[in-house]
Amino acid sequence: MFGIGAKMTWRSFCLTLGSGLTLMGFALFFSNGERAERIYFETSYRVYRSVWDGLTAWVPFALVWVWLAVLVMWLAVWIFPIFKPGVSGRGQKVLKGVSIVAVAHLSWFYWAWGFNYARPMSWEVPAVAQGLFYDELKAQIARTVKVREDLSHIPGFYGQRGDVEQIREAVAGFMQNIGLQPAGSPQCRAFFPSGTLLLFATSGVYLPFTGECLFDPGLHPLSQAFTIAHEFGHAFGITDEGACNFIAYAACSQSSRVDLRYVAEFNYLRYLLAECRRRNPERYRELQASLPEALRSDLEELHRRHAAFPAPFEWLRSMLYSAFLKANGQHEGERAYHGIVALVIHYRKINSEGGDLH
Ligand SMILES: [Zn+2]
Repeated sequence: MFGIGAKMTWRSFCLTLGSGLTLMGFALFFSNGERAERIYFETSYRVYRSVWDGLTAWVPFALVWVWLAVLVMWLAVWIFPIFKPGVSGRGQKVLKGVSIVAVAHLSWFYWAWGFNYARPMSWEVPAVAQGLFYDELKAQIARTVKVREDLSHIPGFYGQRGDVEQIREAVAGFMQNIGLQPAGSPQCRAFFPSGTLLLFATSGVYLPFTGECLFDPGLHPLSQAFTIAHEFGHAFGITDEGACNFIAYAACSQSSRVDLRYVAEFNYLRYLLAECRRRNPERYRELQASLPEALRSDLEELHRRHAAFPAPFEWLRSMLYSAFLKANGQHEGERAYHGIVALVIHYRKINSEGGDLH
């Protein structure tokens, strides 16, 4: 009796302390971005990153499986005694168990990464006028074709340690250049089996519960590399989806590797084409038909590859993630990814004028 009582008290104490600290974090950080920058990002997150990255760098498999296994085991240990014959108040006990897991994960999420949303970082740039947009689209097709001509080989898989490290260094280097201090030395791992993330129509994810970036190895290689770079942006403390796309583009486009330069130009071009379709579907169809053969063939191969993976839970991901982004101040929801277009155009403009982005 004493043992059970002591355990319950200990669990309740941890839960109360954890949720209390998280509520305090909300009050402290979301009311004052400078404080979030100084106390959360510069201190707590930086220390967490260097310790966790140091401890887990050697692990050759995706830690997401360890997290899922522990979660399932914990739930089994918790649920099993509740369904023994003669146990009363099952509904209440299940509700309590689920609440504990949910509250613990919410606290874990915000302290392990989520308070980065409170940092004072605006990625708002002026909207792009039609003329400027179509000029950029035309120039980008030319840029992409030029890099494609220099390309003789694309790796089939970008999850090898050497490739991942080069992409990470490129992202960290670019962030430093524009005055954003990347935190730690995170890992990015392939989430096998292929197609697991694609079930949710998701290319990759930064998972705060394991402190790692994940990408789906079923993706076309050109998408794999871009996704890895994008997720590193998140791991380095950037929350904005458009900004992570922009960082991935700028970092890879400055690489000494021609395949990574093509990854950058090709993926940015895809966003421009999507934007063209949104602005003027007729013009998009004409443009698509007139694209140079090499680009059209790469685009078709990518679409074929991705279409081979079913995405039965896309609606669920879309609904939950859009709501999550809006709850954390990204009011455009999933449209935020397309912020890359305005950011790249703005960046080119201020770069040509010798200004700074931040
Ligand atoms: Zn993202």
